[in-house]
Amino acid sequence: MDVQSLARPGVRALKPYQPGKSLTALEREYGIRDAVKLASNENPLGPSARAVAAVQDAAAQLGRYPDGNGFALKTAIAGKLGVAAEQITLGNGSNDVLEIAARVFVTRDHEVVFSQYAFAVYPLVTQAIGAKAVTVPARDWGHDLAGMARAITAATRLVFIANPNNPTGTWLRIGELEQFLVSLPGHVIAVVDEAYFEYVDEPGYPNAVQWLDRFPNLIVTRTFSKIYGLAGLRVGYAVSSREIADLLNRVRQPFNVNHLALSGAAAALEDTAHLKRSRTLNREGLRQLGQAFTGMGLAYIPSVANFIAVNLGRPGINVYKALLCEGVIVRPLDEYDMPKHLRVTVGTPNEIRRFLTVLEKVLGAVP
Ligand SMILES: *Cc1c(COP(=O)(O)O)cnc(C)c1O
Repeated sequence: MDVQSLARPGVRALKPYQPGKSLTALEREYGIRDAVKLASNENPLGPSARAVAAVQDAAAQLGRYPDGNGFALKTAIAGKLGVAAEQITLGNGSNDVLEIAARVFVTRDHEVVFSQYAFAVYPLVTQAIGAKAVTVPARDWGHDLAGMARAITAATRLVFIANPNNPTGTWLRIGELEQFLVSLPGHVIAVVDEAYFEYVDEPGYPNAVQWLDRFPNLIVTRTFSKIYGLAGLRVGYAVSSREIADLLNRVRQPFNVNHLALSGAAAALEDTAHLKRSRTLNREGLRQLGQAFTGMGLAYIPSVANFIAVNLGRPGINVYKALLCEGVIVRPLDEYDMPKHLRVTVGTPNEIRRFLTVLEKVLGAVP
């Protein structure tokens, strides 16, 4: 019996998402202690202490099902964003809502448009459905919106745009993104993935939530995994029109966000001081990394997120492996077609110093 042949063709050809190597995996495989992980764009400060306390309190109610409608968290998010709670769809991470959006709107007869060097989840969900992925060549490592607009056909049903983009850290300005949304025909849903929204304070950086009234085909996604430091809890959300939220809600699993996650995320939202600290630390870290790369003669892609892609001028995977042996985990980008780059998450000043020291050491030895 060949169960492989029973799987849908899209699933048969899928390569599973490769997460960054975990600290415990490195410690187990290499026998290393005190490793540093700068591989998954997590907040080096971790979550707000208030979120942790809320999770601990919520543990007392684990015998009950969670609130399937996530009323308290939706209300809190809606209040922050100035939208109605009915416009929010909660997800088990924003990954969940990205996939739900694809499953609601896309069939195998449709095309999904995204950029070269885009987040790995977009091709994954497209392929799992069996739809056609249309990858538009990047411009200066970022989205070529004019090219993406030209790639739209009668069969296009969904466009994914990450702003800022992962793994490149590039970003789109208000005018260009707005113009792109205006240009989209009525049969295309636009997902603007703002996973790193809270990190960006560049003038001219758009808040796509403000456009929801104008674009009934727009879905904006955000997450508690990045600046909120709650990647382990798995909470993200989509903001859209009520009509789209209603559709997303039909496909969503009844209890897709668990009770601890609902409680922790709601508490995290209130800790604006933690957000501010995280943003300041990140800005400093980006500067520290950029200066060091320049000093070492390494080119990097200017980033507004909490990571930076650096060009090592040699196979990044070799440098990645050498760094692992020294107890530093970063992200190789072969799967993104960027074999000479590594993506480094902004850590604490100490973590960055440790990374840079080890990088200097291994660059002398790695071809
Ligand atoms: C990290 C990330 C996400 C969010 O993942 P979660 O499922 O919310 O943890 C979404 N989009 C992009 C571009 C990301 O980098």
